[in-house]
Amino acid sequence: MRIAQLLKSTDYGTDVVVKGWVRTKRGNKNVAFIALNDGSCVANIQIVADLAKFADETLKPVTTGSCICVKGRLVESLGAGQGVEVQADEIEVYGTADPDSYPLQKKGHTLEFLRDIAYLRPRTNTFGAILRIRHAMAYAIHKYFNDRGFFYLHTPLITASDCEGAGAMFQVTTLDMNNLPKTEDGKVDYTQDFFGKSCSLTVSGQLEGELGALSLGQIYTFGPTFRAENSNTPRHLAEFWMIEPEMAFYDLEDNMALAEDFLKYLIGYALENCREDLEFMNKMWDNELIERLKFVTENDFVRLDYTEGVRILKESGRKFEFPCDWGCDLQSEHERYLVEEHFKRPVILINYPKEIKAFYMKQNEDGKTVRAMDVLFPKIGEIIGGSEREADFGKLNARVKELNMPEKDIWWYLNTRRWGSAPHSGFGLGFERLLLFVTGMGNIRDVIPFPRTPKNAEF
Ligand code: ATP
Ligand code: MN
Repeated sequence: MRIAQLLKSTDYGTDVVVKGWVRTKRGNKNVAFIALNDGSCVANIQIVADLAKFADETLKPVTTGSCICVKGRLVESLGAGQGVEVQADEIEVYGTADPDSYPLQKKGHTLEFLRDIAYLRPRTNTFGAILRIRHAMAYAIHKYFNDRGFFYLHTPLITASDCEGAGAMFQVTTLDMNNLPKTEDGKVDYTQDFFGKSCSLTVSGQLEGELGALSLGQIYTFGPTFRAENSNTPRHLAEFWMIEPEMAFYDLEDNMALAEDFLKYLIGYALENCREDLEFMNKMWDNELIERLKFVTENDFVRLDYTEGVRILKESGRKFEFPCDWGCDLQSEHERYLVEEHFKRPVILINYPKEIKAFYMKQNEDGKTVRAMDVLFPKIGEIIGGSEREADFGKLNARVKELNMPEKDIWWYLNTRRWGSAPHSGFGLGFERLLLFVTGMGNIRDVIPFPRTPKNAEF
């Protein structure tokens, strides 16, 4: 049985077997108390070993980090704050953990130190909680869409088109880097490469997602995406997970309504289903976490025009590191000013200048802006980016030409607007940005098991 179940049990006197990793061992000359954790929940179960029953050699290797199997009886606990404990009859040590070398000791460790030993940090209370919350959020995402008739579409990770423009790409090749085949004019000859052309890891599943929406009606993708941005920030990873719903017959209003409902559902799901882990995170790392989560589920998001947002920023009298004029791409400091100081709640910013947004966004009548939406969150800044898509072949084609995008990469996408085009919309939610918000962590490296960032691909 898992410890999470045992701790809720009142079957006093029954025989039990528990297996897990020792957090601490203490005691006196009559009895040893072992705090055991098996990863099923943040709480430990207390194992009581009567020293009259156990030889010294049995208990000596039971140290912090060792893995043991305990057979015994579940009894009501007299200790404060715990319902049950296990009276041990037998203890088998599966794996020892030499206290001189085991890096995780009882004292708290810094997040920086734990990042260096990311292969072991799931053994800590904090990362146990984060990884359980991560799992619950992944499950809730599938549940949300499945319950609403969306289909999970698997878009490719390897792509030959680099037109999405969402960020720099990682190349995928089997060519020998030390002996590259060249064409007559001295360029790399990709016809000899694995796919017969230059390929990369995808930055987004959206373009293929649109094909899904224009056939299945409502789809979502949920998978890894890759961006070779050399930006060392607490909000960027080189490999991150993204959720991208795409819906036929949705306009920008429908898209915003879905984004708001989706985020509130996920946060509400965490509040309902991850209570103990959230309480732990609230106590250890962020005393306002649970309050902030509740606040977001209970209040409407502000909907604001980009133009209006820039006016508020300019009239704020605030000295920003990067001053902002109409046409500028908002920095995190601007986004957070709007959300945290001006409106004090999430903001959906819409109708951005077309120059700073992707080619596929629906053009507004004004000829200057597009029907883009970014959802901005407290502590995070941008958590979602989305738009209504340009469904008109003529307008999309003109934009593609204007931006000099290669026909050979984009022809199949343009064809969706040639045959049975439909109004449609979608967005991308960064899974780790969501997790930053839900766990209260401050650095995106701490909400993914094995972070990939510039100069770091360990484990
Ligand atoms: P930002 O401006 O924050 O760099 P973006 O505008 O480049 O993000 P989009 O292309 O709109 O991001 O991607 C959709 C979502 O994916 C973003 O709203 C964000 O939640 C997430 N995201 C984007 N880049 C990263 C990254 N490098 N690491 C983690 N999440 C990311
Ligand atoms: Mn964006």
